[in-house]
Parts: sequence; C-alpha cells; structure tokens
Amino acid sequence: MTGVGPTDGRAVTDRDLLRGFARDASGLELVPESVLRPRDERDVAEAIAAAGAAGTTITAAGAQTSTTGASITDRGALMSLRALARIGEVDPVRRTVRAQCGVIVADLRRACAERGLLFAPDPTSDEDCTVGGAVACNASGARSYAYGATRPHVRALRVALADGRVEEFRRPQLEKNTAGYLLAQEPVDWFVGSEGTLGVVLDAEFALLPLPARTTGIAIPFPSEAAALSFVVAARESASVAPRCLEYTDAQATGFMRRAAADESWARGAAAMVYVEDSGSDAEAPLERWLALVESCGGLADDVRTYEGEAALREARRLRHAVPAAMHERAAPYRALGGRRVSTDWAVPYRDVAAAIDLSRREAEGRGIEPAVTYGHAGNGHPHQNWVARDPGELHVMEGVVEATLRAVIARGGTVSAEHGIGKLKRRWLPLQLGERQFAAMRALKQALDPAGTLAPGNLW
Ligand SMILES: Cc1cc2nc3c(=O)[nH]c(=O)nc-3n(C[C@H](O)[C@H](O)[C@H](O)COP(=O)(O)OP(=O)(O)OC[C@H]3O[C@@H](n4cnc5c(N)ncnc54)[C@H](O)[C@@H]3O)c2cc1C
Repeated sequence: MTGVGPTDGRAVTDRDLLRGFARDASGLELVPESVLRPRDERDVAEAIAAAGAAGTTITAAGAQTSTTGASITDRGALMSLRALARIGEVDPVRRTVRAQCGVIVADLRRACAERGLLFAPDPTSDEDCTVGGAVACNASGARSYAYGATRPHVRALRVALADGRVEEFRRPQLEKNTAGYLLAQEPVDWFVGSEGTLGVVLDAEFALLPLPARTTGIAIPFPSEAAALSFVVAARESASVAPRCLEYTDAQATGFMRRAAADESWARGAAAMVYVEDSGSDAEAPLERWLALVESCGGLADDVRTYEGEAALREARRLRHAVPAAMHERAAPYRALGGRRVSTDWAVPYRDVAAAIDLSRREAEGRGIEPAVTYGHAGNGHPHQNWVARDPGELHVMEGVVEATLRAVIARGGTVSAEHGIGKLKRRWLPLQLGERQFAAMRALKQALDPAGTLAPGNLW
C-alpha cells in the first residue's frame, strides 16, 4: 500500500519508486515499467490517450489494498490516483454526495455522518481503501447484509475512457424500463466491479441513507461452530429480529479477537462467535428477543457482550479487523520463501455455508493441512477462509483445497468471488463459474470500450 507522494502527472521510472508500487495485499510482487501520479482529471485523460496512441497500457491503482493482485502490474504504467481526493458537498435534500476516486472510504463515511447521513458501503479495509477501488471492486462489508454492496449506492460515475475521452454515466432514476437488454440500460454497472479494465473512475456520486438513530453491536459466543452457524440461519429467518450484519468467527478467528481485545478470559467456553448489529429508531435494542434466539440455538447467553455508541462500535470493528490483519502479518515473513496468505472469497446461498465449510475442512484434512481460519459475512453466505502457506509446496496443496471447495461451491449455485474480485490471482478460477457465452458477453463489452486493451491488462483475463 502506497502514499500519494509528489505528483506532477509525468511518468516516473526511478527503480526505488517503482518498487514502492509493486505490492498490494495479494502477496504478489509485480514491478511496473513506470508510475504515473496524475494531479487532476486532465492528467488522467491525457495519459490514457497517450498510452493508447503508443500501444502501451495503464493499470489504475487506489490504495493498493487489493487481495488479488488487481492493483499491481508488470506491463506498462501503474497510475496511482491518490491525489484526486476531494469530497464534494453532501446534499441533504437529494441525499447524495460526490467524491473523487482517491478519497479514503472511511473519510467519506465520516463526512456524510457529520451531515446526519449514512454512506453505506463498508469494506473492512475502509480506513485504507479508496472510493475508486471500492467502485472498481464493488466492495462490500459486514453491513452489506442490510444495505447491499457498493453497486446499488452508485448514482453516477465520471469515467476516463480508453480513448482518452471523459464521460459522465448516470443511472436512470426510472421505476420501469423495458428498453433493451439490462446490460444496455445501466452503463454505470459496466464500471462497477470492472477492476479497472473498462475505464478509470474519476469521481462518483453516491446515494446516501438516513443515519440510524441507534446501533447496538452484540457479540454472541457459541460452544460449537455448528451452533454458531445454525444461529446465523435462524437470525436471518427470524421474524422477531432484524440484524444489520451477521458476522461469524470460527474457533481460531475467535482466538485472534480475544488476543486483540487483550482479554483471554472472554467467553472461555466459546468455540465460535457471531457478531450482529441491530439498528433502529427505538431507544434500546430488543435484547430480550435476541437473547431468546441465542438460547434457542444453544448460545452462551451469559457471555454475550454489547457495544453501544460510536467508540464501542469502532472497538467491535477493530476486533473483527484483527483477524484478516493477523493473517496478513503471519504470512509476511514467508513471502520471501515463496509462501503467502491464501484467502478465499467464495459465497454460497446462506443455508449452505456450514456444508461448504465442512467440505473444505475435509479436503484440507485429506491433504494433511490445518483447517483454515474462517470468519466473515456468513449472513450473506460469504465466509472467508485463510491459510498461511510457508513455501511453494504448501501453497500448491492449499490451492488444491481451494479449487476443490470452489467446485463444490459452484455446484451449490455459489460464486468464486463475492467481494474481492478476480484480479490476477483468481482468474484461473473464473471459468469454473462463467460459461463461454458469459465470457463472450464480457469480451464484447471490453471490445466496445477498450478495443486495444489499454486498461488493466491481466485483470479478469
Ligand atoms: C485487511 C483487508 C481487508 C479487506 N476487507 C475487505 C472487505 O471487507 N470488503 C471488500 O470488498 N474488500 C476488502 N478488501 C479488499 C480491498 O480492500 C477492496 O477491494 C478495496 O475496495 C480496494 O480499494 P483500493 O483503493 O485499495 O483499490 P486498489 O487495490 O488500488 O485497486 C483495486 C482494483 O480497483 C481498480 N481501481 C482502483 N482505483 C480505480 C479507479 N479510480 N478507476 C478504475 N479502477 C480503479 C484497480 O485497477 C484494481 O483493479 C480487504 C483488503 C484487506 C487488505
């Protein structure tokens, strides 16, 4: 992950500087041929036009927190967009805000909250990642359970296209529309989740929501992982509670959270944890209803912890963030040895989560490796599994487990990537999910927008 550094819009080829942009959170290292740090939209558009004319390429980068190698390249220029970092006016009447692509997501959320409005997309990396990266990856997070990923909140995008033109795309505010294929009706959606391959997002207009009057976080320990996962299904289907998020941590991940809380005695009997948030206009959370559900699913109701108020909710978030951060740190020393963190991003229909995790565990056991550290958005059918591969041999075995899991996930109607995208690391798994006709439709769009392949070569394909 990189800072902004001095910007003057020109290509830099200093070797040390190039190396500063050669890594993201994937564990890969790709050194670009040059780095561009545009100061404004014009610099971006001119650089893209020049690259197209010269037959070279440009890969956009925000904060380089990508876990898939999407924000690094060894082909052509890497364009760091951190300097385009202005937050526009929050419009309290239309409930919208505009932000340039280099704005940090958490800064945008805080600016909206000051005006009593909620910027809903909440990737766990929100203190580090940029608006452009969040749009380009269709980022999501714990609260996407209630609010959806980034996509539905994007009202308009200003995009630098592969021919160097800058164009504004606005989502039609229609309630009914049967004019042509969906693909043609919503050009904004071409760019959301396109991983920099179709255009460079310059700025975005987002729809905002009213800030909930109250949010209560509840951490619920369970004596077994199975009980915790059945609770997730029960909470999702319950008519008595309406969670804003439903996050799961298995035994190992719960251990990381205990350590981050510096409280090893917390919920000693717990083998797993579910974190929920309950928001509403009422002054207090319906704790009795939550506890009744916890007890009916065998949860450790006496050890439940609640989090009220901004600081406490931030602490709850910090504890959950401690899990991926700890795995990232654990993997760091093994990078030089050819190892890295192996991290899945699959999702299945939510009722199938327990079966998919179980299958993955059996695959791991069968190949003689430790079970993964499993945590994340189980309420959306989307837990992350993490391993640390210490060398290329372990990496190979773990990737075998991942592939076997992905095949089972796809057979259950799942996806190989729910939020981190495909990038370079996961592109060999995309064909498990998409058939030739879907690839042909994607290729047609790429051909229409970037026929010379100027943008983000190697991402997705
Ligand atoms: C600890 C950790 C936790 C994470 N948690 C989450 C999570 O909860 N949810 C989630 O969704 N992701 C998560 N991620 C992944 C990552 O943070 C997100 O995908 C994030 O949105 C990427 O933003 P970025 O600014 O770092 O983009 P980068 O990593 O710089 O780029 C990501 C992709 O976006 C493209 N891109 C960047 N800016 C632009 C632009 N202006 N125009 C066009 N394309 C652009 C790049 O080419 C690349 O393809 C996590 C990562 C880490 C390291």
